Amino acid sequence: MQRFLVILMLAGVSVSSYSQGLYKPRDIQRAFDKNTRSTDGRPGKNYWQNKARYEINITALPPSRTVKGSEQISYINNSPDTLRGVYIKLFMNIHKPGAPSNVPALEDYLTSGVHIDGFAVNGQKRQWQQSPYWFTVAPVRLDKPLNPKDSVQLSFDWHYDMSLLSNREGMIDSTTFFLAYFYPRVAVYDDYYGWDRNSFLEDHEFYSDFNDYTVNITVPNNYIVWGTGTLQKPETVLQPEYLKRFQQSFTSDKTINIATKEDLASKKVTLNKSNTWQFTANNIPDMAFGLSDHFIWDAASVVVDSTTNRRASVQAAYNDTAKDYREMVEHGQHALKLLSFKWPAVPYPYEKTTIFQGYAGMEYPMMANDETYEDPIFSRFVAEHELAHTYMPFYMGINENRYGFMDEGWATTFEYLMALEDMGKEKADGFFKQFRVEGWISDPSAEQDMPIITPGNVVSGAGFGNNIYGKPALGYLALKDMLGDQLFKKSLHEYMNRWNGKHPTPWDYFNTINSSTGKNLDWFWNSWFFQPGYIDLAITEVKKAGSGYSISVKNIGGFPAPADLEITYTDGSTETKHFNASVWEKNLKQATISVATKKQIKSVKLDGGIFMDADTKNNSFPAGDKKGF
Ligand SMILES: [Zn+2]
Repeated sequence: MQRFLVILMLAGVSVSSYSQGLYKPRDIQRAFDKNTRSTDGRPGKNYWQNKARYEINITALPPSRTVKGSEQISYINNSPDTLRGVYIKLFMNIHKPGAPSNVPALEDYLTSGVHIDGFAVNGQKRQWQQSPYWFTVAPVRLDKPLNPKDSVQLSFDWHYDMSLLSNREGMIDSTTFFLAYFYPRVAVYDDYYGWDRNSFLEDHEFYSDFNDYTVNITVPNNYIVWGTGTLQKPETVLQPEYLKRFQQSFTSDKTINIATKEDLASKKVTLNKSNTWQFTANNIPDMAFGLSDHFIWDAASVVVDSTTNRRASVQAAYNDTAKDYREMVEHGQHALKLLSFKWPAVPYPYEKTTIFQGYAGMEYPMMANDETYEDPIFSRFVAEHELAHTYMPFYMGINENRYGFMDEGWATTFEYLMALEDMGKEKADGFFKQFRVEGWISDPSAEQDMPIITPGNVVSGAGFGNNIYGKPALGYLALKDMLGDQLFKKSLHEYMNRWNGKHPTPWDYFNTINSSTGKNLDWFWNSWFFQPGYIDLAITEVKKAGSGYSISVKNIGGFPAPADLEITYTDGSTETKHFNASVWEKNLKQATISVATKKQIKSVKLDGGIFMDADTKNNSFPAGDKKGF
């Protein structure tokens, strides 16, 4: 009893020292000092975040490429700070010649950018002034400072041309557009980083507050609009027959062809000469839309919450030529089921998703814009990845621009866990190695090994992608292997519960996993996420010890990776002994694995599986394939 108490007290001591071992930038330390974030990984008692309401009107009249918009933004300052100005993001200026970018802008990608035709602050018209050196982000000085707990009304009229070459948004064909990042918005102002003044450079992604939206999109007759949010009054835009099919899809497991190629050719799907499609969504980081006069519309639904039996709608919009898309609704249902019940096993949080055929392989809240592929298995694989993003970054409000490993790293982890369900271990491992690990581990240059924690906005080129996809995914999977599925899931859920709808930092994640597992894992976070390194383990010695053998493994690369030891005995029998990352807790450089056996070991081979080893030449004992001992 007494001993038990002492252990508890010691555990208590280590709880208060969580995160002390990890490097912390000064702004994170300040957030702890101000109690906006707590050192146990919870939002602090002074946590706050800002919010806005957007009322947006868009007119798109294809084949004209010009999109016109007007909006009212009500931006609420929940911070304790007086804001003398705001930063406005104008993402469509990425298409403007001269815009800084880490990706070459081909001629068909260029447009004249965003034209602000009208601007007002609190109802007062102002001249929009933008330095020619500002492109995707622009500062606006407020005549009257925005006090804490007060709000400012901003209004914009603007227009821009859809780019011919489509990426995350743009023209899919002459009468099919994908609208994303299409409206001027207030940048995130948060409690530790202040204003997000980073330019959009194409290879890095986004950071958004949780806002409320009403978006009206006016399009010509016979155009369907798909997008984020609830379609309000569908009876005002759809002919009764199509309205009926649309409504049926909300309770149907089976795919309903709401509008076929023939239906669209008959031009009788929508009601009026021009239709305004209204979508609303609250507490969501962004809105995106697709529109077309010939894309086929399929839909069904799927139960995503077994306690309430809530169904989510799954829709697909695609060109008749995209054969893989005929099964896309089924792929979407399948993915939402796996995500809701297996990993992360959190009910899909939205009412719907739409997978729209484009050129991006990109996620948006309630939307994915995916290419068409010959291989339906690959189409499903990509759809699963994009739908996994529902949780990170959207459910969790991640700063993808700076900490992409908190977003892509998790989508890649869930993608692998879904692939295991879909295709079994051998194939899933093969996919994962090929797409997520090989590019990193086969390149011996320093760029590939820089610490994952490096803010992504200052990284580009070689190593950047691996730092946000494969490397962190392996880190999360090594953690899962070490904690076991149950504890891993429990701590992941704790993180998701604490930070859903907020803006977690990497330290909030690490601290939450420490406090919710009751383990100080700083040694693991430090070597996997904060240090340069790679995976290279070597067997250095196999010797008789006690009632068996001890196998010495040297960690050359520095990452605390798990692996299998494949043991062959002199009698020809074999055994696989798995060790998890905890073998590196006491000593990161060297571990000893005990094997209790009465048999004689002939040889041992080390195999990391998806934890691919940079140098497999030192993975066997005896080295090479000589003789036993
Ligand atoms: Zn992704």
